Amino acid sequence: MAEQLNAFQMAQAQFDGVAKQLKLDPVIAEMLRWPMREFSFRIPVRMDDGSTRIFQGYRVQHNDARGPNKGGIRFHPNETLDTVRALATWMTWKCAVADIPLGGGKGGIIVDPATLSVGEKERLCRGWVQAMWRNIGPRLDVPAPDVGTTPQMMDWMMDEYSKLVGQYTPGVFTGKPLGGGGSEGRTEATGFGVTYCIREAMKHLKMDPSKSVAAIQGFGNVAQYAAIGFKEILGGKVACVACWDREDKTSYTFSHKDGVDPRFLLTITDQYGTIDKKKAKEAGYVIEDGSAWISKEADVLIPAALEGQVNGETVKKISSRVRLVAEGANGPCTPEADEFFKKNNIFNIPDFLCNSGGVTTSYFESVQNDMNFYWTKEEVLQRLDTKMTQAFHAVLEMSEKEKVYMRDAAYMVAISRVVKAMQLRGWA
Ligand code: NAD
Repeated sequence: MAEQLNAFQMAQAQFDGVAKQLKLDPVIAEMLRWPMREFSFRIPVRMDDGSTRIFQGYRVQHNDARGPNKGGIRFHPNETLDTVRALATWMTWKCAVADIPLGGGKGGIIVDPATLSVGEKERLCRGWVQAMWRNIGPRLDVPAPDVGTTPQMMDWMMDEYSKLVGQYTPGVFTGKPLGGGGSEGRTEATGFGVTYCIREAMKHLKMDPSKSVAAIQGFGNVAQYAAIGFKEILGGKVACVACWDREDKTSYTFSHKDGVDPRFLLTITDQYGTIDKKKAKEAGYVIEDGSAWISKEADVLIPAALEGQVNGETVKKISSRVRLVAEGANGPCTPEADEFFKKNNIFNIPDFLCNSGGVTTSYFESVQNDMNFYWTKEEVLQRLDTKMTQAFHAVLEMSEKEKVYMRDAAYMVAISRVVKAMQLRGWA
């Protein structure tokens, strides 16, 4: 049996494929296969009971040819250096495809944050900064929240950094809360970015958004605003959304004969993206098994929950009406699903293009912090629309020019941009 690749080996394999297609210089390719810098450190934290616990922390800076490294910090019990390396690598490509002047980074701590008190979490966040502050900064590396970390944690980290360097430096972390240096529009950013990509893809495919139906998996941050965007910005109909029910430990699909009303559903959804079944039923929603979303009669599929959801098995269930798949989540479609899309002429907007609205708005947050001047939500979303539209068309153009699938084209655009910056800087 073939050996299962871990996340970083997968990231390297993806890169190797594109490096070959692009006939990259072997020295440049070797440089890009590996992160430029890696930090691995121990963080002692005084616990509430007076004892001291040692935590393992990481930060990986994959490539900063195009600008300061950028990427989240995860607090997760299964964190490994290789996961952080993979995520840092993917951030380099995501920032490059979005054409924001940032490189790729990622960090983490091996911990289950749910086991810590608020005070312990704060001390752990400050401990991470005490270990890393010399190697992060608005012009160096700008971390953000990710799995297990929150906007409040970013404010504690920003505060610790500001104290250590002796001046208020909000641009060192993004994803901060509004009122604590955060940006307007961040909540909507990823889902609306998905919407802008869908709008451009529909123009290309000559689809009428007002006559289109979308089926969405997920009802968390990304899916909520993708659903609102699809209905309100594009004028389409959302056939269903699906979510995980933490009490029943299973997933459900919610649909409505008139199409789902995402603004109503938001009022009966908790902070984890779980919809209240009883209230939905009272409002006339039909509740089916969590797998039902994928076989709905729809023109557009938006997997915006988890990785690996559209795979060799589930892809066979999609309606023959589907023409477009917009990857809101990271890695929602497997290589087998990609093969099916290619065979059936289904257009795919790959994850690191489709969901790059989040990091683009994080970049806007950092820019506003640096200027100490803040934009309105309308300004943020307008700038986001411009960036997403440009990014989409750069990838589409590459896909048409090189006659390659959109995912390969997105890698080609991203890697070419990073390579160009490396060459201009005289690195190779
Ligand atoms: P979230 O935690 O807010 O929401 C996740 C949603 O998925 C919830 O509604 C949950 O109930 C649902 N879900 C979980 N398991 C499910 C299952 N088995 N079946 C159906 N639904 C299920 O997360 P999010 O921020 O919306 O992120 C979703 C995805 O998008 C992740 O892959 C994330 O990495 C990616 N992403 C998020 C952002 C962002 O800005 N939030 C940016 C880029 C990528």
